[in-house]
Amino acid sequence: MDLKKFATAVLLALTIVSPRAVTAAAQNPQFQVIPVDDAWRAALPRDADAATKAYLDRLPPATVARSNAYFEGGYWLLLWNYLVWIVIAAILLTGQRSARMRDWAQRVGRVGLFRDAIYGAFFATAAFVIGLPLTIYEEFVREHQYGMATQTFGPWFGEQLIGLGVSVVITAIGVGMLYAAIRRAGENWWLWGTGVAVALAILVLLAGPVWIDPLFNTYKPVQDPQIKAAALAMAKADGVPVDNVYQFDASRQTTRVSANVSGIFGSAAVRLNDNLLRASLPEIRAVMGHELGHYVLNHVYKAILEFGALFMAGFLFVQWAMKRLQARFSERFGLRGVADVAGLPVFAAVFATFFFLATPIKNTIIRVQEIEADRFGFNLAREPLGAAEAYLKVTEYRKPNPSPMEEFVFFDHPSTRFRIHDAMRWREAMGSP
Ligand SMILES: [Zn+2]
Repeated sequence: MDLKKFATAVLLALTIVSPRAVTAAAQNPQFQVIPVDDAWRAALPRDADAATKAYLDRLPPATVARSNAYFEGGYWLLLWNYLVWIVIAAILLTGQRSARMRDWAQRVGRVGLFRDAIYGAFFATAAFVIGLPLTIYEEFVREHQYGMATQTFGPWFGEQLIGLGVSVVITAIGVGMLYAAIRRAGENWWLWGTGVAVALAILVLLAGPVWIDPLFNTYKPVQDPQIKAAALAMAKADGVPVDNVYQFDASRQTTRVSANVSGIFGSAAVRLNDNLLRASLPEIRAVMGHELGHYVLNHVYKAILEFGALFMAGFLFVQWAMKRLQARFSERFGLRGVADVAGLPVFAAVFATFFFLATPIKNTIIRVQEIEADRFGFNLAREPLGAAEAYLKVTEYRKPNPSPMEEFVFFDHPSTRFRIHDAMRWREAMGSP
C-alpha cells in the first residue's frame, strides 16, 4: 500500500460530504405517542405508580412492539460486533499478513514510534473494511427498516469514510503511544497503557467538539430566544459557564431526539439536537436540566476515572492472556513477543473479549450517571411532566419496559418506565403540578 495514495483517498473522502442546510426536523412514521392536552395532565393521578402507568399507556401496542424488536435486536448486535474482532484477528494473522504489514511499516516508518503508528493506521483501515458489511446492516439498513434514518446511501457512506479518516488518525496516535509504553515499561506496561488510554480519552474529548463533530453536523447557537433564555437562566443558576447553548442538525442523519454535554475543561458545551427543539418548552427545560446535571456533577471526570479503572483491568487481562497465546502461536503468525505491534490483532481480540464480558459494568457506569442527571434535572428544571414527555419520546430507540435483569445488562440509560417513575415520584413527593 502506498501511503501517499492512502492519504489522498482519506482527504478525498473528507470532501465528499459537505454540510447542507436542513429545513425541518425529521419525524418517524413508525413511532407514535398518543397526544394529550392540559386536561389530561390536570387529571393525572398523584400516585407515582399510577401516573407512570398513565404515561406508558400512551404508547400504542404497535409502537411498543416495534421498540422492543429494535432494542432486543441490539443485544444480538453486541455479539456480532464482538465476533467481528475475532474475524479481524483471524484474517490478519492468517498467512502472516500482520507480520508482513509490520515489516512494511518498519521500512516506511524506520523509528519504532512511526512504525507502530503506521501499522495502527493500517489496522484501523483493515478493521473498517472487514466490519463494513455489519456496519452497513446495523447503521444503514436496520435504521431505515425502523424508520429512523434520514440519509440515502451516498451521503451516509461518505460520513462513514469521514469516520474512518478520524479513526485512522486516533488509532495511529493511540497504537504508537501504547506500544512505546509497552516497550519502555516491560512487565508494568498495563499501568502505562492505562495512562495512555486516559490521555487519549482526554485528547478525544478536547478535539471532539472542536475538530471532529463539525465534520458531521453544523453547530450553531440556539436561535429560539425563548429556549435560549430558559437554558441560559438554568446554567447561570448553577454557576455553569455556558456562554452559549448550541443546536445541531441531527435530523440530517436521524429522527432520534437527543442532547448532550460534550467536551472537557474549557471546551464543555450543552448541545441540543434539532429533533428535540420541536418539543414543548417544559420538555426542553427538563432535558437542559439533565444535561446541566452531567456538567455540575463532574460526570466526565468521574467517567474518565471509572473507565480508566476498567481499562486497567482490561489491560491486565490482555497481559495474562497474551503471554499464553504468544507462547502457542508466535511462530506460526510471525510475532515477536508482546511488544511487537504485529500482535495488535491478538491484543484487540482479547481486549474486545474483555469488554464484551464487561458490558453490564460499562452500561452500569453510564446508567448510574444518567439516573443522577435525571434527578439533578428534576430539582433544577422542576418539570416532571416535561421530563416524562421527553422520556416517552426516547422509546423510539429504547425498549420502554424491560425486566430488571435486562436493564442491568443491556441498558446504558435507564428505561422509559424507570425514568418516568423517577419523575413521577419527585412530583408526588414535592407536590408539584
Ligand atoms: Zn444524560
